[in-house]
Formats: sequence, C-alpha cells, structure tokens
Amino acid sequence: MSERLTLAVPNKGRLREPSLELLTEAGLAFELTERALSVPVGNVELDLLFVRTDDIPEMVADGAAELGITGLDLLGEHGGELPVLAELGFGRCRLAVAVPAELAPEKPEDLVGMRVATAHPRLVERWFDDRAIPVTVIPLRGSVEVAPKLGLADAVVDLVSSGSTLRVNGLRVVGTLVESQAVLIGRSPQTEHPTVTPLVTAVRAVVAARRQRYLLLNAPAGAVETIVGLIPGLEAPTVVPLAEPGWVAIHSVVEADHLWELLPRLEASGGRGILVLRIEQMIP
Ligand code: AMP
Repeated sequence: MSERLTLAVPNKGRLREPSLELLTEAGLAFELTERALSVPVGNVELDLLFVRTDDIPEMVADGAAELGITGLDLLGEHGGELPVLAELGFGRCRLAVAVPAELAPEKPEDLVGMRVATAHPRLVERWFDDRAIPVTVIPLRGSVEVAPKLGLADAVVDLVSSGSTLRVNGLRVVGTLVESQAVLIGRSPQTEHPTVTPLVTAVRAVVAARRQRYLLLNAPAGAVETIVGLIPGLEAPTVVPLAEPGWVAIHSVVEADHLWELLPRLEASGGRGILVLRIEQMIP
C-alpha cells in the first residue's frame, strides 16, 4: 500500500481556488502548470487531478482517484456511500426549495403534485420519496431559477447562499433540503492508506485553525478571574507572571467570530497590550 494516491480537485468554478489554498496551507508542495490535468505533490506520495467539481464523486467512486474535494450537495446527488473525511468550511450554501412568491406553499411538504425543477434531480427525487411526497422532478443543467417563469415547473430546488438570485426571480424560499459546504471525500478501503491519515489530519488542522485566533494580553493580577471568565478558551488559559510585580500575561485560543464583542470587554476589565494572532494549524 505505498503507491501514489490521486486527489481529484475542482479544475474551475468557485471551489477551485479555496481548495488549492487549503492544500497549500496544509503543507502540500506543488506547482501549478497552465492547463495540466495532473500535478505531482513534491513532498507527499500524491498527485492532484484537475476535473469538474460535479464529476469528482463519480471519479472517486470509480477508482480514477482515491480522494476528492467537492460539494456536499454534489456528493448527495451522486448518491453513493463515499465517506466524508473532512468538512472544509468553504463553499457554504444550501439546497433550498422555492416557489413563486404568489403561490401558497409554506413548506416543502406542501409541494404535493407539483413539478420541481432542479440541477440535483437524484437528490431531490430521493428527498421527496423518503417523505412520501409525490412531486415530478424536472432535471435542468442550469438557470433553474427561471423555470417557473418559463412555465417549465411550479417550484425549484436550487443552491443559494444569500437568496438574492431567487428573490430577483420572484421566488420565495420555503425550506432547505441540504446545508452544503466543500468536503474531502475518499473511498474505502483506500482511506486506510498511510498517506491518508496525515493528509486528513493536516487538512482538519487548517480548517479548525481558521475559525480560531491566538489571544495574548497583559492584565493586573486582580483582574485575572474576571478576564478568564470572559474567555471560553480551548482549555484553561495560560496565566504567567510578568516582570512587573502584580501583572500577568494571559494566553488563550478563542473563536474568531466572538472576538468583536470580546475585545472591548477584555479592555474594560483591565486587559492591556491585547494581541490577536492567526493560527496556521490546530489540533484541539
Ligand atoms: P461551480 O459550479 O463549479 O462554481 O461550483 C458549484 C459548487 O459550489 C456547488 O455544487 C456547491 O457545492 C458550491 N457553492 C457554494 N455556494 C454556491 C452558490 N451560491 N451557488 C452555487 N454553488 C455554490
């Protein structure tokens, strides 16, 4: 089990650049060549294979690649049993059910007997079948949101991030079938290959680190209890005495999303010299 593995990566579209950035941050050394279908990774027994995002689940299932990066929605549309090795935290969107604003449905269950246009026909068919809601699925490759206007369908199931495209087309969201993001997928038993575990660990470490920041601050010893109470750290924060009597330094890891409200509270509690640093990789 020491042959080189292949990782299928989106060759274009919105998942390509964030995928390459993630692999670089995870420590993979590769040089992109214009239009190359396959690129070797110098420091890992791995080749990157550049293919369409929506072909990647099939490529991995068929054995053209052992690993792949694609959207969870596309994995669901493929319908196979490929394991998700890591959620990658980018390419976030949801597969939403929407109807023309003037129509009555308030939830997906109200779509009984309707025609539903979608670029995810297998996933949609399965979702409604599983709930015994009879609908007619109209498969489309793109421009799903105009299908009701063209009289092709009564409702749509389409990917949305903000929902503005649907609103512009006079559609109202009435439910979500899948919350999607980019994922690293594999195929068993190749997921047992010695290259896979360190790769998955490094990828997860980058994804985890992106959501966190390293926080350092100085504070009077008397303020430690209040400040530590404000910081929901990775574990107990590190508190070390400073050369100046009565002062300590506090180090911790905090959620990046919480910083905007945490910083003024730390300052108001006596924190000084507050530093916030990015973390490259983190294994909690
Ligand atoms: P692409 O069509 O190659 O740009 O990539 C499409 C994939 O990007 C989808 O299958 C989703 O997994 C993901 N994605 C993330 N946000 C959106 C969005 N707002 N619209 C469509 N796809 C999205």
